[in-house]
Amino acid sequence: GAEVGSAAVQRLARQANRNLPELRTHDRFGNRIDVIDFHPAWHELMRRTWESETHAYAWTHDRSGAQVARAALSYLWNQGENGVCCPMGMTYASIAALRHDPALHDAWAPRINARAYDPRAVHAADKPGVTVGMAMTEKQGGSDLRATQTIAVAATPRRGAGAEYRLTGHKWFFSVPMSDVFLTLAQTEGGLSCFLATGWLPDGTRNRLKLQRLKDKCGNKSNASSEVEFYGLHAVMLGDEGRGIRTIIEMAHLTRLDFAVGSAGLMRQALSQAIAHTTGRRAFQRALVDLPIMRGVIADLAIESEAMTWMGLRLAGALDAGERGDAAEAALSRVATPVAKYWACKRAPGFVAEALECHGGNGFIADHLMERLYREAPLNGIWEGTGNVICLDALRAMQRAPETTEAYLDELRRARGADRRYDAFVDRLAARLAEKQGLEPVARQVVERMALALQAGLLLRHAPDAVAEAFCATRLDGDWGHAYGALPAGLDTGAIVDRARIDTDA
Ligand SMILES: Cc1cc2nc3c(=O)[nH]c(=O)nc-3n(C[C@H](O)[C@H](O)[C@H](O)COP(=O)(O)OP(=O)(O)OC[C@H]3O[C@@H](n4cnc5c(N)ncnc54)[C@H](O)[C@@H]3O)c2cc1C
Repeated sequence: GAEVGSAAVQRLARQANRNLPELRTHDRFGNRIDVIDFHPAWHELMRRTWESETHAYAWTHDRSGAQVARAALSYLWNQGENGVCCPMGMTYASIAALRHDPALHDAWAPRINARAYDPRAVHAADKPGVTVGMAMTEKQGGSDLRATQTIAVAATPRRGAGAEYRLTGHKWFFSVPMSDVFLTLAQTEGGLSCFLATGWLPDGTRNRLKLQRLKDKCGNKSNASSEVEFYGLHAVMLGDEGRGIRTIIEMAHLTRLDFAVGSAGLMRQALSQAIAHTTGRRAFQRALVDLPIMRGVIADLAIESEAMTWMGLRLAGALDAGERGDAAEAALSRVATPVAKYWACKRAPGFVAEALECHGGNGFIADHLMERLYREAPLNGIWEGTGNVICLDALRAMQRAPETTEAYLDELRRARGADRRYDAFVDRLAARLAEKQGLEPVARQVVERMALALQAGLLLRHAPDAVAEAFCATRLDGDWGHAYGALPAGLDTGAIVDRARIDTDA
């Protein structure tokens, strides 16, 4: 926390986002090289992120809670610089896909989990530590990956898992094109399959890919995102032929958790900035935060931020326990992770806009970090499953595996009796979930309520009364407006704001 909040890291973050990555397709002799030039600040941020083990802690520490600790690290780095969180999150999550092939997993996991960032354009096996990316989305659609057109042809008589293939096709989004290793999807005779490729080949040449362009993005500027063509890309099939979606879906489960946690981190940073500004600035002879309406706005943001944090870390705990064989926690993780991804990513843009407004005009000016958070905020809602797709995923989990609904309702039962509004809300929701059919048109409403119930239960069990009371009154009982700060009278907003303050003397 001290590191990501330091002036040094915040300066690096600013530099990396003002000095954009540049694509160099050719060297001075006209040979294709397809490399990206970054400002040194990017490499320094990557080095620090990898040093902190945010990409690997869950796999390198074989003890209960390791996933929660890693999620906490991610929550913090998302308050430092969000661009590096893209390669960091994909590298972390790649282990889940690699587990489909124990030989590939054992070959790559030590380098993937190493605390070493090496930016050189050389073959991954020549590096102490590697970054992992993924290139899935094609022009015709990212949500419906079954429409993939890239084709893979066996390079040797051997076929199927672990065999060598050559890929031809196009990917419309390929972030971190300097990834040492990346996963991709292509069609074979047996159907859509997952492949693992290295960015460079053992002889030191670029793998058979051409970077066409870098995306000119709304946010996430420090990180390069490219369009790429494969012309005979050397790759190895990962997992079973024709089961490509199944192979990457467990990876997607982890990246989705990471974006729920990441958006909570982004919101926490926006809140911290808003509290600091409104505490230090005076208007009408008082600190802004002591003016009643402003106090309500900050309190409302603080409630939202705390609820997101609990939800993200609780689900990291469910993942952790599930990984250790607890079936009920695994079921909770399965259904509630998309719920959390949907809600945290959906709430972040409005949240950041409100926190920005707390700064007045300064918040809208690019000297301030708020501007960057504002441009970043919508992104987590898009990649790794847009809002609608994520809601459908939550419904699918409940339809295919009824034990996920049971595990979710069991989690809610833990807070039963603590608040009558909560009990009534949970009863209505349970009745809704029991309907099972016909939920797709109302998926957003159902998933939103699932998120609110989960958050309320966690706050009732773990947060101070002032926070839980305000959450239940507004989010469950509806005594609330449509903008942040439209709170009812009688809430202890002073206590809520004080709880959210960072002790800058510590
Ligand atoms: C900055 C950035 C970096 C990215 N990096 C990568 C990367 O490294 N690798 C990679 O593979 N991809 C990457 N992506 C792509 C991203 O994963 C896709 O944009 C995303 O999956 C959505 O796909 P799409 O853009 O094709 O939109 P579409 O799939 O066309 O979706 C458009 C809209 O339709 C909705 N929709 C789709 N299906 C349904 C449905 N069944 N019911 C209701 N609504 C539906 C969606 O919710 C969305 O609102 C990146 C995207 C961005 C913005």
